[in-house]
Amino acid sequence: MTTATPAIRVEHVTRRFGDFTALADVDLEVHQGMVYGLLGPNGSGKSTLIRVLCGLLAPDEGKATVLGLDVAREGDAIRRQIGYMSQKFALYADLTVIENLDFFARVYGMSGARLRERRDAAMALVHVEPFANRRAGLLSGGWKQRLALAAALMHEPKVIFLDEPTAGIDPVARRELWDLLFDLSARGITLLVTTHYMDEAERCGEVGYLYLSKLLVTGTPDRLKELPEVNEPGTRRLELETTNSSRALGWLRAQPFCRSATVFGQAVHALVDASLTDDELVSRMHAAGFATTARAIVPSLEDVFVALTERAARERGPMKPVEA
Ligand code: ADP
Ligand code: MG
Repeated sequence: MTTATPAIRVEHVTRRFGDFTALADVDLEVHQGMVYGLLGPNGSGKSTLIRVLCGLLAPDEGKATVLGLDVAREGDAIRRQIGYMSQKFALYADLTVIENLDFFARVYGMSGARLRERRDAAMALVHVEPFANRRAGLLSGGWKQRLALAAALMHEPKVIFLDEPTAGIDPVARRELWDLLFDLSARGITLLVTTHYMDEAERCGEVGYLYLSKLLVTGTPDRLKELPEVNEPGTRRLELETTNSSRALGWLRAQPFCRSATVFGQAVHALVDASLTDDELVSRMHAAGFATTARAIVPSLEDVFVALTERAARERGPMKPVEA
């Protein structure tokens, strides 16, 4: 428990578009200086939640505050203190890096020495100085995102919303962008980031998982991995290094002792009956033609989200697929 006002507080927020519910009774809290990761399949409501928190869409029910300000009534005051990086690149391709940043600074009412000071500081924060005079349209994906981050930082926001900032950029650029996000968090800035990447989720202080408009869970990655829903009593989670993981997967899934199995890199992760020892499993797999070694593992965040999604889908019953 902390006594400081959370940077973001969402209480029972529901938002509909016509008779479609995009957010259903969502509750979450993000403390100041935290990097909060929001995950979930396409169409689950991640961008909608960000738009609500930026004061661009009012909740139909419930209440949300950012820095203690009400999103429904104080959107202007919120927007002066937050940065927002939308899901699509929203800068001007035919303007240079400097021209883009100057444009954003003027939107925020800056000019003269103050503008130059903030522009230089934002460029330094994301290390974009070498490309100061390059047109934004000619930057690589990773550098475009850094520029977008610099633009979002121009007015020294205390909270930044980043909607899939690393979608479509290469692994090195992804890692570098995350290093920047941690630099900002170390300065006390709160970040809410949506992503589909599990390695990014693992690095967040807390993560939430939105599934078809409902927030199924929120908490630290370690706590999520200990949830009883993810660690069913009477089961063990194993990593199986095996000769042919895709064929081994098919075989495993057909075995009565196997509750679930997925391929994970070169290995298979399986949830099996606890009564089956490692040696028994390995010898059965050998007999079936798979040379295997087994070791017990804690669930990954991906295991957590798969388990929660399967459970939510069972409770919900058959349904139509959702468009992105
Ligand atoms: P995500 O970001 O998780 O992919 P979104 O928040 O963009 O999901 O969308 C959630 C659902 O709400 C989708 O089914 C989308 O089509 C719908 N939606 C979002 N914005 C609108 C809108 N302005 N009008 C109608 N439906 C919308
Ligand atoms: Mg989205």
